[in-house]
Amino acid sequence: MIIIDGSEGEGGGQVLRYACALSLMTGEAFTIGNIRGGREKPGLMRQHVTAIEAACVIGGAECTGLAVGSNSISFRPGRVTPGDYHFAVGTAGSTALVLQTVLVPLMLADAPSRLVIEGGTHAMAAPPFEFIERTLLPVINRMGPTISARLVRHGFFPRGGGWIEVDIVPAALRPVECAERGALRRVGATAILAGIPFDVGDRELKTAAKTLPDWPPESFVTRQLPADQGPGNALLLEAVFDNVTEIMSAFGKIGVPAERLAKTAARRMAGYLACEAFAGPYLQDQLILPFAIAGGGHFSTVKLSQHTLTAAALVERFLGTGVRFAEHEDGAILVEVGRS
Ligand code: AMP
Repeated sequence: MIIIDGSEGEGGGQVLRYACALSLMTGEAFTIGNIRGGREKPGLMRQHVTAIEAACVIGGAECTGLAVGSNSISFRPGRVTPGDYHFAVGTAGSTALVLQTVLVPLMLADAPSRLVIEGGTHAMAAPPFEFIERTLLPVINRMGPTISARLVRHGFFPRGGGWIEVDIVPAALRPVECAERGALRRVGATAILAGIPFDVGDRELKTAAKTLPDWPPESFVTRQLPADQGPGNALLLEAVFDNVTEIMSAFGKIGVPAERLAKTAARRMAGYLACEAFAGPYLQDQLILPFAIAGGGHFSTVKLSQHTLTAAALVERFLGTGVRFAEHEDGAILVEVGRS
């Protein structure tokens, strides 16, 4: 039985989701206390409960203490069974983060799976759908499995109501080398609006263009969705390289000026473009689990996040897999995964 203090390291929901995934893959039970102890409102939120329930369903696991607000759970894994599954968060809680919990166990199963996940697709502090589709999955597909994802309906905070579908054809994960991002092929900025005035997207794009002056004017576009998918607004900044696609995002929030959101996302993109690393600030932690399961491989990245350090410590505990970080002269970090 592995005992985890949920307030350590990053202290958020990721340690919980990764612990469930690792437990299903290793057969090791765990208990976690002080859940999300590093967050303003600690304890399980609806989206975490859905993610753990999803892990229980696909993995025949038993979990005690599972309720919104709970500060500790015990998780005893069973056998992962591939199949058709439908999970609904019931709020705007992230569909991508439910996926993050069950994806790696299902891609090692002995048959394909199809998932439908309902909830938020474009909300704060989680990957937007496009990040999963274009940034994360292409790297994972290079490791062996074939995973495709479709966005059927957008879901924004606070209403939710989004719908994504994911097909998973499993394969053993093989180590890959992701040191070079390759040449820049295309850039694009999309302001998504659902039931929000056109002017909001326009201001976001104009602000982003000031920070990214080399981006061609035709790469800035507004996409208006049916108003019943909103209200909601997201800005996606995308840079497509030979070997990786980076997406920086911002999500409209009442009381926060569109210009401010756009400026933050554009500065992040400018920072990423100014360096040579493969993985941006969010992809890095999301690669730790698949790389650790592959038992090797490396990728270069920007400044390390707490999420990444926490994920590295967790895979070390469950798998005995070491994650080493080496800083290069240009400031990029090489993340190497392998048995310690
Ligand atoms: P936590 O904060 O512990 O719930 O974990 C959040 C997860 O969402 C981490 O895996 C982050 O890398 C990921 N994430 C948060 N914001 C973004 C974003 N804007 N784009 C992509 N991934 C994100």
